[in-house]
Amino acid sequence: MKVNNLCLLLCVVATFLFSCRKEEAAGNSATDTISAAVLDQIKAAGYDVTGIRQTEEGYIVENDLLLPYSDVAKLPGRLYLPAGKTELVRASQLVTGLPRVITIAVTGLPGSYISATDQAIAAYNSLNLKLRFQRVVGSAQITIQGRDLGVVSGRWPYAYAGYPSGGNPYPSITINTNPSAFGTPPDIVALRKSILHEIGHTIGFQHSDASNPAFSCGPGVYNGPAVVGGVIYIPGTPAGPEACSWMLTCLDPTCTSNFTPGDIIGLRYIYG
Ligand SMILES: [Zn+2]
Repeated sequence: MKVNNLCLLLCVVATFLFSCRKEEAAGNSATDTISAAVLDQIKAAGYDVTGIRQTEEGYIVENDLLLPYSDVAKLPGRLYLPAGKTELVRASQLVTGLPRVITIAVTGLPGSYISATDQAIAAYNSLNLKLRFQRVVGSAQITIQGRDLGVVSGRWPYAYAGYPSGGNPYPSITINTNPSAFGTPPDIVALRKSILHEIGHTIGFQHSDASNPAFSCGPGVYNGPAVVGGVIYIPGTPAGPEACSWMLTCLDPTCTSNFTPGDIIGLRYIYG
């Protein structure tokens, strides 16, 4: 392994998250710039506002979950799905109209990002779900775009995405193109896992350890949800967070598989 790659891996092992924030220079990453009323609304919906950030699109909580500004006032209470981990927000935020093909375009990014996207798409499609993905050029239902979100510091920022709305997937995934995030050239495995994870959000999957983010992030990073609206367990999935789940709050880059058995049960329960 090249030294550069090793350095990247070691850094990522310590801090690998699928997260993002705006650059500090933009001056909008501090929690104290967000009104108490907004924080209360987000907390009331069950989200941990520790480390909340803002971007042009909305607020980002729990590393990489984008809550669009337009949705904050009407955020539904969180419902937890799978026991295994795959914790969903709620049924109305799933992608509907199955069976269905979701098109994905990669815009303004080099071939390595396209390769990683193709690998992530192939991983989902290998499960033969009623939701399939297809990469296209041009207009798509999900656009993967790059933005220099600044130098990765601590746990920020790698990428972010939002939840489905109106039965459709969240329309974009934003990836930090700063070399500090995925390296130069980008680490294809890390990119693949990031895209795999962000696609999970766009189709409605919550962090699988959202009720206990310390499972993947370590203690003191996130506190877990303030409110739990309900619990729906998927039969057959593990009873708690599972190492190497594709939807853990903080991903372990040493996990090279795409999905755990519990992940697959959760995906098939929702989209199988
Ligand atoms: Zn995430």
